[in-house]
Amino acid sequence: MNLRTKVPLLAISILLSTTLVFGVILLFMLRVNMESEAKLRAKTFLDALAVSATEDLATGRIDSLDRMVTTLTDYDLEQLDVRFVQVLSPERRVIAHSKQFYYGRVADDEFSIEAVNADEPILRDAYQNKERILMVSRPLVTQIDDLPGIRWGTLTTALGLDRLQRMMAHSLIGIITGVVLASILSAALLISLLNTQLIKPLDNLTEAAASYGHGNLGTRARIYGKDEISMLATTFNQMADTVENHTRNLEFQILERTHELQSANKLLADLNERLNELAITDGLTGLFNFRQFQDTIRKELVRAKRLRIPFSLLAMDVDFFKQFNDTYGHPSGDIALKKLASVMKERLRESDILCRIGGEEFAAILPGTWHEAAIGLAQELRMSLEKSELINEAGQKIPGITISIGVATFPDHADNVSDLINAADSALYLAKQRGRSQVASAANISKTQG
Ligand code: GH3
Ligand code: MG
Ligand code: MG
Repeated sequence: MNLRTKVPLLAISILLSTTLVFGVILLFMLRVNMESEAKLRAKTFLDALAVSATEDLATGRIDSLDRMVTTLTDYDLEQLDVRFVQVLSPERRVIAHSKQFYYGRVADDEFSIEAVNADEPILRDAYQNKERILMVSRPLVTQIDDLPGIRWGTLTTALGLDRLQRMMAHSLIGIITGVVLASILSAALLISLLNTQLIKPLDNLTEAAASYGHGNLGTRARIYGKDEISMLATTFNQMADTVENHTRNLEFQILERTHELQSANKLLADLNERLNELAITDGLTGLFNFRQFQDTIRKELVRAKRLRIPFSLLAMDVDFFKQFNDTYGHPSGDIALKKLASVMKERLRESDILCRIGGEEFAAILPGTWHEAAIGLAQELRMSLEKSELINEAGQKIPGITISIGVATFPDHADNVSDLINAADSALYLAKQRGRSQVASAANISKTQG
């Protein structure tokens, strides 16, 4: 059960129990009050009558006594709630009565017997005609100082209590109505006070905590004041601030670390790429090295076989390069090798693969190129190099270099890598033999060898 239900229930039960307890106490007090009021009234009434009644009895003026009693008209008696008044002789005979026709009778009811025999006034509760009444007696005695007096008779009366009871009930209803209204008002006030001071702030705090729990770190409780709930809200907000700051810091740090990691990864990838490049590249000319040549020619052969297309291989060697080095110096030799690389690269296609496979030895793999076309290309390469100008490191023009080229083609001259390389090498050897600076075909080998 939530507070919204508990609080009104509590207020209503407090209200009911308060009303009940208050009602019972009130009823008891009113009853005590009523009884003492009735007794006082009866005693006063009898005392007032007793003086003249005693005198009339003592002097034997029964007629005067009778007149006095009967002149208490019904109206007067009614006003005082007195149901009847009678004077009894010591023998319980009715000497005077507020109602006619009672004179001379002997009162034989229990109260009359007791009253006539009692020395003191007596009071008894009784019911008459369904009404609650109070029976009161008073001995009629003439007395001088403390001496025992002469008992002339007994005055008795009956006092109706219904009117008093009704009055009591009315005031009780009035008071209880007042109490209930006051309690309802207080309960309503209490409920609204609890609602604004306790339930709403608690709801607010609960909502804030739930929203925070769902990850909305910017959520704060909006409760201001100095009471306990406000303090709780302030503490919650401070906690939220701390957690939010920590989280933001952490997020920032993670972001920073991520960036650092990404940079490091990129660096590593670049390094790897560079290493791979270095592993397959020749340092002087920037062409692919021998390792890459072997790898590429193997793959190219597989591809050519699968697609049933040809490819040609050019084996190239600089002529008299030892002599060139000896004449112009090693650095000029290097310049010459670089020139060779750039001239050839310029002439070859993007898809052709040019490699430096030894000191002054080069190879070109020409995918999709038939033998005749390869021979033509080799001639062009040889001539382009011949025509190219060479400037040494001192800026002086020096004679260019020439190359010999051997050409072999798959599938014309071999159907595997080593045979194809051997065929191209043999053709190169042939070109050298024939005087250098020329192109020789693998197709001529068998003829020559043969
Ligand atoms: P041939 O026409 O028969 O090929 O004669 P060659 O002198 O070119 O042949 P040889 O194999 O006798 O000499 C190759 C020379 O190439 C030897 C070496 O000094 C030179 N050489 C090899 N690598 C380099 C290099 O990286 N730089 C330079 N400058 N020279 C190199
Ligand atoms: Mg050589
Ligand atoms: Mg050579």
